[in-house]
Amino acid sequence: MKRDPKERFIKIHMDSITVKKIKPLLFWHKCEKCKKEFVREPIYSCSYLDDFWEHYYEYHGCSHCFQDKNEFVTWLQDTGRLYTEESLKKLCKERSIGE
Ligand SMILES: [Zn+2]
Repeated sequence: MKRDPKERFIKIHMDSITVKKIKPLLFWHKCEKCKKEFVREPIYSCSYLDDFWEHYYEYHGCSHCFQDKNEFVTWLQDTGRLYTEESLKKLCKERSIGE
């Protein structure tokens, strides 16, 4: 068996992206886009494995700014907050992962 460190790095990170719709009851969550804070109403929560620290991080987005989960993730990726398969490939090159 063999595995490619670069492919593995990309897969681990792409697979780590999870988006949920949550309804926080106690804690206020700040929307990444409008910067307003929300509690007791549905918001999107996107967690992902950081590409460097190997920690899970989270972004929140309110349902006023985003229609659905996909729109939220696409926005995070378009604004460079979250990686894409392409940006991870570039990262591998920069850090000489799998070379
Ligand atoms: Zn918002």
